[in-house]
Amino acid sequence: MIVVKVGGAAGIGYDTLCDDVQSLREQGEQVVIVHGGSDETTRLAEQLGHEPQFLTSPSGHTSRRTDAEMIEIFQTACCGRVNKRIVRQLQERGVNGIGLSGLDGGLWRGRRKKAIRAIEDGVTRVVRDDYTGTVDEVNDGLVRMMLDAGLTPVLSPPGLSRDAEPINVDADRAAARTAAALGAETLVILSNVPGLLREFPDESSLISELARTDLDTALEVAEGRMKKKVLAAQEAIEADVPRVILADARAEEPVARALRGEGTVIS
Ligand code: ADP
Repeated sequence: MIVVKVGGAAGIGYDTLCDDVQSLREQGEQVVIVHGGSDETTRLAEQLGHEPQFLTSPSGHTSRRTDAEMIEIFQTACCGRVNKRIVRQLQERGVNGIGLSGLDGGLWRGRRKKAIRAIEDGVTRVVRDDYTGTVDEVNDGLVRMMLDAGLTPVLSPPGLSRDAEPINVDADRAAARTAAALGAETLVILSNVPGLLREFPDESSLISELARTDLDTALEVAEGRMKKKVLAAQEAIEADVPRVILADARAEEPVARALRGEGTVIS
Protein backbone atom coordinates (compact mmCIF):
# COMPACT_ATOMS: atom_id res chain seq x y z
CA MET A 1 0.00 0.00 0.00
CA ILE A 2 1.15 3.50 -0.88
CA VAL A 3 0.12 6.75 0.78
CA VAL A 4 0.55 9.82 -1.44
CA LYS A 5 0.41 13.32 0.04
CA VAL A 6 -0.07 16.02 -2.56
CA GLY A 7 0.51 19.72 -2.04
CA GLY A 8 -1.55 22.54 -3.34
CA ALA A 9 1.03 25.15 -4.29
CA ALA A 10 0.71 27.08 -7.53
CA GLY A 11 1.68 25.07 -10.59
CA ILE A 12 0.48 21.76 -9.21
CA GLY A 13 -2.34 20.09 -11.09
CA TYR A 14 -3.89 16.79 -10.16
CA ASP A 15 -4.07 15.24 -13.66
CA THR A 16 -0.69 13.55 -13.59
CA LEU A 17 -1.25 12.35 -10.03
CA CYS A 18 -4.61 10.84 -10.97
CA ASP A 19 -3.13 9.21 -14.11
CA ASP A 20 -0.52 7.55 -11.89
CA VAL A 21 -3.10 6.43 -9.35
CA GLN A 22 -5.12 4.91 -12.19
CA SER A 23 -2.07 2.88 -13.37
CA LEU A 24 -1.26 1.77 -9.84
CA ARG A 25 -4.85 0.64 -9.28
CA GLU A 26 -4.71 -1.31 -12.56
CA GLN A 27 -1.60 -3.04 -11.24
CA GLY A 28 -3.57 -4.01 -8.14
CA GLU A 29 -1.81 -1.54 -5.82
CA GLN A 30 -3.82 0.05 -3.01
CA VAL A 31 -3.41 3.82 -2.87
CA VAL A 32 -4.50 6.37 -0.27
CA ILE A 33 -4.32 10.05 -1.22
CA VAL A 34 -3.90 12.80 1.40
CA HIS A 35 -4.02 16.49 0.55
CA GLY A 36 -3.90 19.85 2.26
CA GLY A 37 -5.50 23.09 1.22
CA SER A 38 -3.42 25.96 2.43
CA ASP A 39 -3.23 27.85 -0.85
CA GLU A 40 -6.88 27.22 -1.68
CA THR A 41 -7.79 28.50 1.81
CA THR A 42 -5.91 31.72 1.15
CA ARG A 43 -7.66 32.10 -2.22
CA LEU A 44 -11.13 31.45 -0.78
CA ALA A 45 -10.52 33.73 2.21
CA GLU A 46 -9.54 36.54 -0.12
CA GLN A 47 -12.61 35.91 -2.30
CA LEU A 48 -14.76 36.19 0.83
CA GLY A 49 -13.00 39.34 1.94
CA HIS A 50 -11.44 37.72 4.99
CA GLU A 51 -7.79 38.67 5.04
CA PRO A 52 -5.60 35.61 5.86
CA GLN A 53 -3.31 36.13 8.83
CA PHE A 54 -0.29 34.22 10.02
CA LEU A 55 1.27 33.76 13.44
CA THR A 56 5.00 33.54 14.12
CA SER A 57 6.04 31.42 17.08
CA PRO A 58 8.93 32.45 19.36
CA SER A 59 11.06 29.81 17.60
CA GLY A 60 10.31 31.40 14.22
CA HIS A 61 7.70 28.98 12.83
CA THR A 62 4.87 30.49 10.85
CA SER A 63 1.34 29.11 11.01
CA ARG A 64 -2.04 30.19 9.78
CA ARG A 65 -4.18 32.12 12.23
CA THR A 66 -7.30 29.93 12.31
CA ASP A 67 -10.09 31.74 14.15
CA ALA A 68 -13.71 30.56 14.16
CA GLU A 69 -14.39 32.08 10.75
CA MET A 70 -11.14 30.84 9.23
CA ILE A 71 -11.69 27.22 10.28
CA GLU A 72 -14.99 27.31 8.33
CA ILE A 73 -13.18 28.72 5.30
CA PHE A 74 -10.37 26.18 5.69
CA GLN A 75 -12.90 23.34 5.86
CA THR A 76 -14.77 24.61 2.81
CA ALA A 77 -11.56 25.03 0.79
CA CYS A 78 -10.13 21.62 1.73
CA CYS A 79 -13.27 19.47 1.67
CA GLY A 80 -15.37 21.40 -0.82
CA ARG A 81 -12.83 22.47 -3.36
CA VAL A 82 -9.56 20.48 -3.26
CA ASN A 83 -11.06 17.17 -2.16
CA LYS A 84 -13.88 17.14 -4.69
CA ARG A 85 -11.53 18.22 -7.47
CA ILE A 86 -9.33 15.17 -6.86
CA VAL A 87 -12.28 12.79 -6.40
CA ARG A 88 -13.83 14.03 -9.65
CA GLN A 89 -10.58 13.58 -11.56
CA LEU A 90 -10.24 10.02 -10.24
CA GLN A 91 -13.84 9.24 -11.21
CA GLU A 92 -13.12 10.59 -14.70
CA ARG A 93 -10.46 7.87 -14.99
CA GLY A 94 -12.68 5.07 -13.70
CA VAL A 95 -11.00 5.08 -10.29
CA ASN A 96 -13.60 4.93 -7.54
CA GLY A 97 -12.32 7.77 -5.38
CA ILE A 98 -14.08 8.58 -2.15
CA GLY A 99 -13.51 11.79 -0.24
CA LEU A 100 -13.32 11.84 3.53
CA SER A 101 -12.33 14.57 5.93
CA GLY A 102 -10.66 14.02 9.28
CA LEU A 103 -14.07 14.58 10.87
CA ASP A 104 -15.86 11.81 8.99
CA GLY A 105 -15.93 8.56 10.89
CA GLY A 106 -13.53 10.16 13.38
CA LEU A 107 -10.78 9.57 10.81
CA TRP A 108 -8.21 11.95 12.33
CA ARG A 109 -8.68 12.59 16.03
CA GLY A 110 -6.35 14.99 17.71
CA ARG A 111 -5.77 17.67 20.26
CA ARG A 112 -6.64 21.30 19.78
CA LYS A 113 -3.89 23.60 21.02
CA LYS A 114 -5.25 25.44 24.03
CA ALA A 115 -2.87 28.34 23.73
CA ILE A 116 -0.44 29.44 21.04
CA ARG A 117 2.43 31.78 21.78
CA ALA A 118 2.99 34.26 18.99
CA ILE A 119 5.31 37.18 18.47
CA GLU A 120 3.61 40.40 17.42
CA ASP A 121 5.56 43.65 17.07
CA GLY A 122 8.36 42.10 19.12
CA VAL A 123 6.00 41.19 21.96
CA THR A 124 4.95 37.63 22.85
CA ARG A 125 1.22 37.18 23.23
CA VAL A 126 -0.96 34.16 23.84
CA VAL A 127 -3.70 33.27 21.36
CA ARG A 128 -6.44 31.10 22.88
CA ASP A 129 -9.19 30.99 20.27
CA ASP A 130 -7.22 29.29 17.52
CA TYR A 131 -8.49 26.07 15.91
CA THR A 132 -5.21 24.30 15.21
CA GLY A 133 -3.93 21.00 16.47
CA THR A 134 -2.24 17.72 15.71
CA VAL A 135 -3.56 14.29 14.79
CA ASP A 136 -2.77 11.60 17.33
CA GLU A 137 -5.20 8.86 16.36
CA VAL A 138 -6.16 7.50 12.93
CA ASN A 139 -9.26 5.39 12.29
CA ASP A 140 -7.26 3.01 10.12
CA GLY A 141 -10.06 0.41 10.17
CA LEU A 142 -12.30 2.80 8.29
CA VAL A 143 -9.67 3.40 5.60
CA ARG A 144 -9.02 -0.36 5.29
CA MET A 145 -12.76 -0.96 4.90
CA MET A 146 -12.84 1.44 1.97
CA LEU A 147 -9.74 -0.07 0.38
CA ASP A 148 -11.19 -3.57 0.76
CA ALA A 149 -14.32 -2.35 -1.02
CA GLY A 150 -12.16 -1.30 -3.99
CA LEU A 151 -12.42 2.41 -3.22
CA THR A 152 -9.55 4.90 -3.34
CA PRO A 153 -9.74 7.14 -0.24
CA VAL A 154 -8.92 10.83 -0.65
CA LEU A 155 -8.30 12.22 2.83
CA SER A 156 -8.53 15.88 3.76
CA PRO A 157 -8.16 18.17 6.78
CA PRO A 158 -9.65 19.33 9.12
CA GLY A 159 -9.08 16.89 11.96
CA LEU A 160 -11.48 16.29 14.84
CA SER A 161 -10.68 17.58 18.32
CA ARG A 162 -11.52 15.75 21.54
CA ASP A 163 -14.40 18.22 21.95
CA ALA A 164 -15.64 17.44 18.43
CA GLU A 165 -14.41 20.70 16.94
CA PRO A 166 -12.78 20.90 13.51
CA ILE A 167 -9.04 21.61 13.78
CA ASN A 168 -6.53 22.83 11.26
CA VAL A 169 -4.01 19.99 11.11
CA ASP A 170 -0.89 19.78 9.01
CA ALA A 171 -1.62 17.43 6.11
CA ASP A 172 1.99 16.24 5.76
CA ARG A 173 2.05 15.09 9.36
CA ALA A 174 -1.47 13.64 9.11
CA ALA A 175 -0.28 11.69 6.05
CA ALA A 176 2.67 10.37 8.06
CA ARG A 177 0.34 9.25 10.86
CA THR A 178 -1.98 7.63 8.34
CA ALA A 179 0.83 5.78 6.55
CA ALA A 180 2.07 4.47 9.91
CA ALA A 181 -1.39 3.40 11.10
CA LEU A 182 -2.05 1.56 7.83
CA GLY A 183 1.36 -0.11 7.73
CA ALA A 184 1.97 1.39 4.27
CA GLU A 185 5.28 0.41 2.69
CA THR A 186 5.83 3.84 1.15
CA LEU A 187 4.80 7.41 1.86
CA VAL A 188 5.27 9.76 -1.10
CA ILE A 189 5.14 13.49 -0.32
CA LEU A 190 4.74 15.56 -3.48
CA SER A 191 5.29 19.31 -3.66
CA ASN A 192 6.59 21.93 -6.06
CA VAL A 193 10.29 21.13 -5.58
CA PRO A 194 12.27 18.02 -6.66
CA GLY A 195 12.78 17.01 -3.02
CA LEU A 196 14.93 18.31 -0.19
CA LEU A 197 17.48 20.75 -1.59
CA ARG A 198 20.79 21.26 0.16
CA GLU A 199 20.82 24.86 -1.07
CA PHE A 200 17.25 25.95 -1.70
CA PRO A 201 16.25 27.10 -4.37
CA ASP A 202 19.07 25.51 -6.37
CA GLU A 203 17.38 22.42 -7.80
CA SER A 204 20.70 20.84 -8.72
CA SER A 205 21.47 20.57 -4.99
CA LEU A 206 18.90 17.78 -4.52
CA ILE A 207 19.69 15.41 -1.67
CA SER A 208 18.79 12.09 -3.26
CA GLU A 209 19.17 9.80 -0.26
CA LEU A 210 18.88 10.17 3.47
CA ALA A 211 19.30 7.63 6.23
CA ARG A 212 17.07 7.97 9.28
CA THR A 213 20.10 9.04 11.29
CA ASP A 214 20.56 12.02 8.92
CA LEU A 215 17.10 13.42 9.58
CA ASP A 216 18.08 15.77 12.38
CA THR A 217 20.67 17.39 10.11
CA ALA A 218 18.13 17.49 7.28
CA LEU A 219 15.79 19.49 9.51
CA GLU A 220 18.41 22.20 9.63
CA VAL A 221 18.67 22.35 5.82
CA ALA A 222 14.91 22.64 5.34
CA GLU A 223 13.27 26.00 5.74
CA GLY A 224 9.69 27.14 5.96
CA ARG A 225 7.16 24.62 4.86
CA MET A 226 9.78 22.05 3.84
CA LYS A 227 10.58 21.68 7.55
CA LYS A 228 7.11 20.23 8.12
CA LYS A 229 7.72 17.68 5.38
CA VAL A 230 11.01 16.55 6.85
CA LEU A 231 9.36 16.39 10.27
CA ALA A 232 6.53 14.33 8.77
CA ALA A 233 9.08 12.03 7.12
CA GLN A 234 10.84 11.61 10.45
CA GLU A 235 7.58 10.78 12.22
CA ALA A 236 6.70 8.21 9.58
CA ILE A 237 10.14 6.55 9.67
CA GLU A 238 10.12 6.46 13.48
CA ALA A 239 6.71 4.80 13.31
CA ASP A 240 8.18 2.06 11.07
CA VAL A 241 7.10 3.21 7.62
CA PRO A 242 9.99 1.66 5.65
CA ARG A 243 10.35 4.37 3.00
CA VAL A 244 9.42 8.02 2.60
CA ILE A 245 10.04 9.87 -0.68
CA LEU A 246 9.91 13.65 -1.05
CA ALA A 247 9.30 14.24 -4.75
CA ASP A 248 8.20 16.64 -7.46
CA ALA A 249 4.48 17.03 -8.12
CA ARG A 250 5.19 19.05 -11.27
CA ALA A 251 6.77 16.11 -13.12
CA GLU A 252 4.99 13.79 -15.56
CA GLU A 253 4.20 10.55 -13.73
CA PRO A 254 5.05 12.09 -10.35
CA VAL A 255 4.22 9.02 -8.26
CA ALA A 256 5.80 6.48 -10.63
CA ARG A 257 8.99 8.54 -10.75
CA ALA A 258 9.08 8.88 -6.99
CA LEU A 259 8.64 5.11 -6.63
CA ARG A 260 11.58 4.62 -9.02
CA GLY A 261 13.65 6.65 -6.58
CA GLU A 262 13.52 10.16 -8.08
CA GLY A 263 13.47 12.71 -5.29
CA THR A 264 14.75 12.48 -1.74
CA VAL A 265 14.47 8.87 -0.62
CA ILE A 266 14.49 8.36 3.15
CA SER A 267 14.74 4.83 4.45
P1 ADP B 1 2.89 21.98 -0.44
O1 ADP B 1 1.97 23.16 -0.43
O2 ADP B 1 3.04 21.35 -1.78
O3 ADP B 1 2.62 20.99 0.63
P2 ADP B 1 4.98 23.66 0.49
O4 ADP B 1 4.97 24.82 -0.44
O5 ADP B 1 4.30 23.75 1.79
O6 ADP B 1 4.40 22.43 -0.26
O7 ADP B 1 6.49 23.18 0.80
C1 ADP B 1 7.50 23.12 -0.14
C2 ADP B 1 8.29 24.42 -0.15
O8 ADP B 1 9.34 24.39 0.83
C3 ADP B 1 9.03 24.67 -1.42
O9 ADP B 1 8.19 25.23 -2.41
C4 ADP B 1 10.13 25.64 -0.99
O10 ADP B 1 9.69 26.96 -1.17
C5 ADP B 1 10.29 25.40 0.50
N1 ADP B 1 11.66 25.01 0.93
C6 ADP B 1 12.34 25.58 1.95
N2 ADP B 1 13.54 25.00 2.13
C7 ADP B 1 13.66 24.02 1.21
C8 ADP B 1 14.68 23.07 0.91
N3 ADP B 1 15.83 23.00 1.59
N4 ADP B 1 14.45 22.21 -0.09
C9 ADP B 1 13.29 22.25 -0.77
N5 ADP B 1 12.28 23.12 -0.54
C10 ADP B 1 12.45 24.02 0.44
